[in-house]
Amino acid sequence: MSRSVLVTGGNRGIGLAIARELAAGGDAVAVTYRSGEPPEGLFGVKCDVTSAADVDAAFGKVEAEQGPVEVIVANAGITKDTLLAVMKEDTFTDVIDTNLTGAYRVAKRATRGMLRLKRGRMILISSVVALSGSAGQANYAASKAGLIGFGRSLARELGSRGITVNVVTPGFVESDMTAQLDEARQEQIRKSIPLGRYAAPAEVARVVKFLASDEAAYITGAVIPVDGGLGMGH
Ligand code: NDP
Repeated sequence: MSRSVLVTGGNRGIGLAIARELAAGGDAVAVTYRSGEPPEGLFGVKCDVTSAADVDAAFGKVEAEQGPVEVIVANAGITKDTLLAVMKEDTFTDVIDTNLTGAYRVAKRATRGMLRLKRGRMILISSVVALSGSAGQANYAASKAGLIGFGRSLARELGSRGITVNVVTPGFVESDMTAQLDEARQEQIRKSIPLGRYAAPAEVARVVKFLASDEAAYITGAVIPVDGGLGMGH
């Protein structure tokens, strides 16, 4: 059965791979995009997740186009890396506002419809650094760790209503975000990953697809690594 799905930050990178994977499985998939153009073949709604009004308007458009949203993937995210000693306050709060408060805005707006449907799937895209920490990424790691406490709380609040909430923690994935790192750093990273390579975005997308599927009906409050073994032991 085709479900109404919304993926934030779905115009490129991991979000686009998730949107394409779910659409290939027969779902009606909408993506939010903040800049540029919506991707070919997917319903695009312009939305900045730092604005509750934008999020509300985006849900309104998606509901009108493809019905109440049954699956959300909170994927939109940014990095603003720098060491704490020189990190300005807005460098910290901007990252929290997009990555964590953005997911709150999306999940909160989605809950309304899901409670009415008495079913739903929320998948939050966190990161391996949520658990390991990362020098130069205190803002980012805090936002991604926050998603775990947030998601697990929602799993407890919403489980009895047939809504599951899970968190995916990717390691390094080939995308614009990781392309910013210089080659020497990328080589160092690859050496530290047991599988010796970055993930393709589709490898994260397939796990998200599983969590959104009927097969994952009894999984909630889980933190699922897709990291080539990088975070083992956390
Ligand atoms: P990209 O930088 O390639 O894409 C980020 C996406 O988020 C873009 O679609 C971007 O939109 C969107 N976005 C950013 N800020 C906002 C905002 N305020 N409102 C709406 N959309 C926004 O990143 P990735 O695909 O690599 O990452 C996707 C997610 O996966 C992120 O949450 C990231 O933290 C996480 N992740 C990535 C890893 C990696 O190695 N790449 C590893 C672990 C986690 P626009 O195009 O308009 O800028």
